[in-house]
Amino acid sequence: MTLRAGGTVTKDAPTSPGPDTTETPELRFPPDPAFSAQANAHPEIYAWASADPERFWAEQARELITWQTPFTEVLDWSHAPVARWFADGSLNACYNAVDRHVEAGNGDRVAIYFEGEPGDTRAITYADLQEEVSRAANALGALGVTTGDRVAVYLPMIPEAVIALLACARIGALHSVVFGGFSAEALHSRIQDAEAKLVITADGGYRRGAAVALKPAVDDALAKGAPTIQHVLVVRRTGQETAWTPGRDVWWDEALAAASHQHTPVWVEAEHPLFILYTSGTTGKPKGILHTTGGYLTQAAFTHLNVFDLKPATDVYWCTADVGWVTGHTYVAYAPLVNGATQVIYEGTPDTPTRARWWEIVEKYKVSILYTAPTAIRTCMKWGEEHPAAHDLSSLRVLGSVGESINPAAWTWYRRVIGSDLTPIVDTWWQTETGAMMISPLPGITSLKPGSAQTPLPGIGADVVDDEAHPVPDGGSGYLVVSRPWPAMLRGIWGDPERFQDTYWSRFAGLYFAGDGAKKDDDGDIWLLGRVDDVMNVSGHRLSTAEIESALVSHPSVAEAAVVGAADETTGQVVVAFVILRGGIEEDDGTVEELRTHVAKEIGPIAKPKRILVVQELPKTRSGKIMRRLLRDVAEHRTVGDATTLADSSVMALIAKGLDKPPLTTSSAT
Ligand code: ATP
Ligand code: MG
Repeated sequence: MTLRAGGTVTKDAPTSPGPDTTETPELRFPPDPAFSAQANAHPEIYAWASADPERFWAEQARELITWQTPFTEVLDWSHAPVARWFADGSLNACYNAVDRHVEAGNGDRVAIYFEGEPGDTRAITYADLQEEVSRAANALGALGVTTGDRVAVYLPMIPEAVIALLACARIGALHSVVFGGFSAEALHSRIQDAEAKLVITADGGYRRGAAVALKPAVDDALAKGAPTIQHVLVVRRTGQETAWTPGRDVWWDEALAAASHQHTPVWVEAEHPLFILYTSGTTGKPKGILHTTGGYLTQAAFTHLNVFDLKPATDVYWCTADVGWVTGHTYVAYAPLVNGATQVIYEGTPDTPTRARWWEIVEKYKVSILYTAPTAIRTCMKWGEEHPAAHDLSSLRVLGSVGESINPAAWTWYRRVIGSDLTPIVDTWWQTETGAMMISPLPGITSLKPGSAQTPLPGIGADVVDDEAHPVPDGGSGYLVVSRPWPAMLRGIWGDPERFQDTYWSRFAGLYFAGDGAKKDDDGDIWLLGRVDDVMNVSGHRLSTAEIESALVSHPSVAEAAVVGAADETTGQVVVAFVILRGGIEEDDGTVEELRTHVAKEIGPIAKPKRILVVQELPKTRSGKIMRRLLRDVAEHRTVGDATTLADSSVMALIAKGLDKPPLTTSSAT
């Protein structure tokens, strides 16, 4: 059975797996030979990298990054777990992202196509960007910010967010971005933790058709006491009325207008800190993850070029992540610009003014590479195919996914509906801590398996181990670990070396413990099973949240699912599922029983949820990840834990109310 120009599918898999397809683990999508022929990466890259990973990374660093002082040292692991990469080299991240492209004659290339939510647009060339980052760097200097200082960034998704980050990097100051949807409280604790000197914010941003104020949250945060803050730099975005503290507050446009458009980047050592970023808080209190310059940029640029098969002069790349989380750092602010690409930045929500907004943008800018999260894909599935179908998406040639396991049903929908049944999909596993992608297929090389992140990238050593740190055999499951230092790895948790050691390095000697459960299939490909904290134990069987969720999402009525284990006197834990039904489908008396039977059929009777709750929304972080620990609190009738990174705080009350209803099902888990 042949796919339209896309290679072949093994077994009896349908050519166009529609949303109704149940799990077909044997589904394979071999690369299209035409794609492979033009791909940046060739199969030999794996053997080359594993023969001498350090030499491999050194070559990437020399080829992809411009150094002010070339390095001679590659890796110093003598202070483990704090690595030093390329330590005797010096460089500047902003110079690499901007100036060198202008110097190479590409100043006229568009770096950023900005699409504001109300429909305003900007096209910013590399030459424009150089002028902007230079003015911004001079303005920061005039406000007393210098190398090593911390700058808190609290902005909507507008070009100034990228410019602010690059301007900090240009002078060697560390940025600490706090997602614009966070409260004054969350902003305050992060300002305090990092002892920031300056906050960069905006009067507001556009969301769901309205101008949403941002500056009041900064004022509230600073009113709680923030002695290290000297100034607040405010971008004018919405023009709404804004309270002002004279002497402290400064308008961005006025500061930049007064500054010179020329600025010499500050050359820093490769290990100079680049930024602090707090994790999503899916599993607990957020950690201030510290990244440095040379290794981070190297792995960012390498992965962006090879995993997306980027052709800088012709591709139009769009990553939908907000700058508030790590994907918005590595794959919006840094990698695409370091690689000299043209990218789209969109300010608003996917359903403003209509549910076709994203697909309008793809058509308008002829986006060729799209990188988004499974939660967004499932939302689009819920909304229906008519929205993407109304637009010409034929420019797309590579699709990416990040943030959670992508359910096979969502993967096949993504490829069929968005990727015209042609495009490779790269399911990229990585974390705030890893700084850049770690496990992912390479398009043009890997035969793709929906739902699996598959293979460690060249130069990366990742494995699945058992409780005693032994690699599990193919077909086995356990804990995901990284076995070798990698260039973009975190260099610590800001201000908390002990937590750094405890969280990542104490579980298995000499291995980085990622906190995720995983399995290796019979080919040795890696499947992520969910957080280790979320793995359930039912009557002695270890069950994966990700697998049961995928089984539920493979049912034609289900758009999204979250599964948790709730304590139970007899079985240890019982499976409790929360599901959102697809658009147009109503819950009836049979729904819950039908879904339970479906899970039993897909995985086995042991995985059958004891309770299934149909809900309207799931608790998610601002980056769209389901916060299962909060659902577990609800399922076990506990007070809900730290919910400060929850995107919508009203969701938990609604869900808790639903759980107070008598169970719709009374039969046992098996
Ligand atoms: P915290 O560490 O504070 O609990 P978090 O882990 O949600 O927050 P991030 O660093 O944004 O913060 O998320 C990284 C995690 O996201 C990974 O550890 C993994 O659980 C999940 N993840 C990311 N990409 C994938 C993927 N492609 N497949 C499966 N899971 C993924
Ligand atoms: Mg994490």
